[in-house]
Amino acid sequence: MAGVDLRVVKRRLAVLFALAAVAASVKIVGGILFGSKSLLIDALTSMANLAALAATIEYFLKSLRPPDEDHHFGHRRLAYGGIIVTLMAYSFVGGVAIMELIKPHPYRISVGAPIFASIGFAAYLAVILIARRWGSSFLPYSLFTVTELIESGVVIVSSMAGVICSYLVDYIGAWGLTAYIFYELVDIARDTIRKLSDIAPPRTTVERILSIVRETGLQPVRVRLRMVDDSTLHGDIVVRVPEDTDIRVVNRLIAEAEDRVRRELNADVSITVEAEEVAGEGCWEGGGAPHRSLS
Ligand SMILES: [Zn+2]
Repeated sequence: MAGVDLRVVKRRLAVLFALAAVAASVKIVGGILFGSKSLLIDALTSMANLAALAATIEYFLKSLRPPDEDHHFGHRRLAYGGIIVTLMAYSFVGGVAIMELIKPHPYRISVGAPIFASIGFAAYLAVILIARRWGSSFLPYSLFTVTELIESGVVIVSSMAGVICSYLVDYIGAWGLTAYIFYELVDIARDTIRKLSDIAPPRTTVERILSIVRETGLQPVRVRLRMVDDSTLHGDIVVRVPEDTDIRVVNRLIAEAEDRVRRELNADVSITVEAEEVAGEGCWEGGGAPHRSLS
């Protein structure tokens, strides 16, 4: 959200949330009134989407707070709170959807179902178009919400066929939407677990950081880096300096290198000088010791 006033962003998020709430309400009312199971399941996912959006906004704003007494490394990982709530909301909705569909029995769908699904489609389309106009900060949300358009499309077709032909088409559509909830759950959970695993950044990023350290005049010998979130790095680098180098010069070079990697790659890296007794010990690639040896 760099470059945009945080208050403007907050106000825009509030507008988006209100629009998404209107879109979800249309589906919920339609799902209850017109007998379509596919519209009902779609309405449930809209509610989960709303809860996910609220939690994502809430935890994203919290994650921007600077380091404090109880979070020495900053609050970036609080943003995962939004993902955890998203998983909870969709899991709950997935369970409710299965209970709704588990015992098949014939039902009647009235023409209001495809009409309300179409209104829901238009409302979500408006949400997406507005989010896109407001720039790249809102891109993840607008991509996320495209799913709601696809779901609305499925409901329009299946509930319409349910009115004209048989309730079974609508029922199959409802199962399709439910299956998609579980597909999304597995996908998001897998991605989140990977990100929370202290995964190292891409090799090119590691090389870039090491080359900055070398440009400063230090010789890196070991490195450990991990992703705190999609754009923040954390780690430590051990460097070797020529014997008899003035300690004040070393400190200045270290401060310079740390500052550059922070500014250029958003990496919170602490650099230490190799202690002579342990030089050459511990190779990440060979023996499973913590540092990756570079010598
Ligand atoms: Zn804190």
